[in-house]
Amino acid sequence: MNRCEDRHEPKYKITYKPAKGQNYCPEWLVCEHCYDKRHFGSDDITQSVETLFSKNTA
Ligand SMILES: [Zn+2]
Repeated sequence: MNRCEDRHEPKYKITYKPAKGQNYCPEWLVCEHCYDKRHFGSDDITQSVETLFSKNTA
């Protein structure tokens, strides 16, 4: 599984559409900040986005 940055706390798991002619869907763990900046979230390349629930939430 790929991550936006090792030191970021992932909040979303994004599954991308497979590359043309392939079945593999890349999965990325992305934090809220990176997701908001749309580095990882263009609608035309994402297949699904799941929200992760942090264990640390008070
Ligand atoms: Zn991040």
